[in-house]
Amino acid sequence: QLQNSFQKVFKDLRGQGKISEANIQEALREVRVALLDADVNIKVVRQFIAQVKEKALGQEVLQSLTPGQQFIKIVDAELTELMGQTHTKLHLSSTPPTVVMMCGLQGSGKTTTAGKLAASFKKQGRKVMLAGADIYRPAAVEQIRALAEQVGVDVYAPGTDISPVEICAQARKLAMGKQIDLLILDTAGRLHIDDALMEELVQIKASARPDEILFVADAMTGQEAVNVAQSFDERLDLSGVILTKMDSDARGGAALSIRALLGKPIKYIGGGEKMDALEPFHPDRVASRILGMGDMLTLIEKAESVYDEKTAKNLERKIRGNEFSMQDFKDQLLQIKKMGSLGSIMKMIPGMSSKMGDMDIDDSQYKPVVAIIDSMTPQEREKPEIINANRRRRIAKGSGRTVQEVNRLLKQFQDMRKMMKQFSGAGGKNKKQQQAM
Ligand code: GDP
Ligand code: MG
Repeated sequence: QLQNSFQKVFKDLRGQGKISEANIQEALREVRVALLDADVNIKVVRQFIAQVKEKALGQEVLQSLTPGQQFIKIVDAELTELMGQTHTKLHLSSTPPTVVMMCGLQGSGKTTTAGKLAASFKKQGRKVMLAGADIYRPAAVEQIRALAEQVGVDVYAPGTDISPVEICAQARKLAMGKQIDLLILDTAGRLHIDDALMEELVQIKASARPDEILFVADAMTGQEAVNVAQSFDERLDLSGVILTKMDSDARGGAALSIRALLGKPIKYIGGGEKMDALEPFHPDRVASRILGMGDMLTLIEKAESVYDEKTAKNLERKIRGNEFSMQDFKDQLLQIKKMGSLGSIMKMIPGMSSKMGDMDIDDSQYKPVVAIIDSMTPQEREKPEIINANRRRRIAKGSGRTVQEVNRLLKQFQDMRKMMKQFSGAGGKNKKQQQAM
């Protein structure tokens, strides 16, 4: 894991007097290995290491920081830079409709992402229309119609007898007439890049004049995604990239490479199959996540979209203050069901992603967990440490689960609290470091 390697490196650097060629040699080597491990393109890694080295050696060590802390700051800043600094919004046309064209290989998540974008803009009060230009897979027409119905937006998917270029041109006209704000063109993909596909996309671009051409990349495809993105960019001059399946085991390094090698911004990331699993891409936050501090901000933002601000602030305070109780845990589980997959949320809690294996909680397991917590008294939920063997047996009986299951949950909960404590502490320190800059 990238973050583990980083943490080890930084521990080794602690207590050194100043940053010198000699004392960062090992750290740089570790960072290099960690990035390659995360599937970052070798060219990108070389450039990254060179830049970090140059910055590190050229910089005076701030009084308030150890060389190790200083080094983290530099790596953090460079990672953020590598991923594009700030979040890049969709470019909205001054004369509606804004036309967004999705492109990418088959199965990368174009149609799903089109639906997610539609849902997100609809939520912001915009009139959205989806156009289905995949006429090659019979099921595709059905898929986009169903998605449009699900999120409650207009759809133009006339079927398979009319050419994709014609569909997109018609869709633009229709969207004008209906005063649509955002028209999303969902195009066909292929298993591999081929000339016929590219030619079709080039023609769609010419006739539908999209304001945005977004390349949808499956984060799981690794380095191959970089080559594919380059081919699409050569023919279409992409305006941005959306990474899907970030909820998978994908290391995300290939993704990061696309940004660095193409120079095109990553605009969103997809983290699940549900329609609300789309987030704006924030390079600074992802850099922190890679560094092992957890993506606290995204977590809190996500929480806020489901509950009111007060509850979210409360949650943040509790996590930071290590006052997170069993009751909070249960409330979270139930809230999380509303937010999307449990795994994707847990990964955002500082230090959680590396421990996900041990946590062993997935969506299907939430029911027994809730049953066990329901069988606890309010006092036990607040202070799980009072739960002795007798109480464990009673809780097991009450919830219809085994004592082993109760034990496991309690253990997991304690581990989680420990981690929250450890990592919210580290995150806090880092904020101060940033202010010192
Ligand atoms: P298309 O061929 O590019 O239009 O791809 P689809 O939108 O049909 O998606 C292909 C598969 O990937 C479907 O099963 C989707 O549910 C799934 N998928 C898309 N985006 C995500 C994501 O962010 N996370 C996960 N886990 N699955 C996704
Ligand atoms: Mg599709």
